Amino acid sequence: MTAPMKKSRQREAILQCVLSHHDHPTADTIYMEVRENFPNISLGTVYRNLSLLTKIGKIKKISCEDRTDRFDGLARPHSHFICDSCGCLLDLPYYPDASLYGQLNENFDGKITECSIVFRGVCKDCMSKS
Ligand SMILES: [Zn+2]
Ligand SMILES: [Zn+2]
Repeated sequence: MTAPMKKSRQREAILQCVLSHHDHPTADTIYMEVRENFPNISLGTVYRNLSLLTKIGKIKKISCEDRTDRFDGLARPHSHFICDSCGCLLDLPYYPDASLYGQLNENFDGKITECSIVFRGVCKDCMSKS
């Protein structure tokens, strides 16, 4: 009966990996890192655990335009910035007040519970390169 234990240890390692990154890693990056401690883990297991952790609200998934999913361990509501030059994804401390949802929900048949804002531009590193 060691299987469930092993599973939760892998999940914990995946969670810790996402939380320790502040650069919004992709599933591939997480897989490479977790594999150092769990050599037998498969990419499929990493994907499954990432979507489970997203579903239970431990981490957030950001779907980027290039269709890669990136994962975010920062629990505090925030916005994102994507550099058009190098594609890096950074956190921005801006987030609309929840009262905005109240206003929008008045004229909306469904229910808005959160939003995702992505700003674009050129990051500091790319600025200094040009
Ligand atoms: Zn850049
Ligand atoms: Zn973020």
